[in-house]
Amino acid sequence: MRESFGLILLLLFCISPLIWYLATDKKRTARYAAQNAAAQAAVPLQHCMTCGNEFRPRPGAVRGSTLVEVVLWLCTFGVLGLLYSIWRRMDIGKAKLMCPVCSSNQVVPATTPSARAHRLQLERLLGTTN
Ligand SMILES: [Zn+2]
Repeated sequence: MRESFGLILLLLFCISPLIWYLATDKKRTARYAAQNAAAQAAVPLQHCMTCGNEFRPRPGAVRGSTLVEVVLWLCTFGVLGLLYSIWRRMDIGKAKLMCPVCSSNQVVPATTPSARAHRLQLERLLGTTN
């Protein structure tokens, strides 16, 4: 009991700089939010050909799965995890586009003729045209 209390105190001591860093620096988070908004605005609008949802993909999207990455790091003592992490981060932002609503990969830029035709078709179908 006494040893576990000491262990908890040691853990708190070790992570306290991280907690302080995350909790205090409002300037950094505001700057990050502004950079993120600018990067988000630069990404072209995408149109889902399955459900008609229009969205902007995350600019720094990486391919692969975070869960697989963590499992590889833990189970192979970092050997395959490191290779997988490098592979995931090659061509950052080139991750396969996927609709956040229906998870379809039938996604095209919103300005293409096929997206416009699909949007018009959906509007006619739903009766929302003027
Ligand atoms: Zn969709």
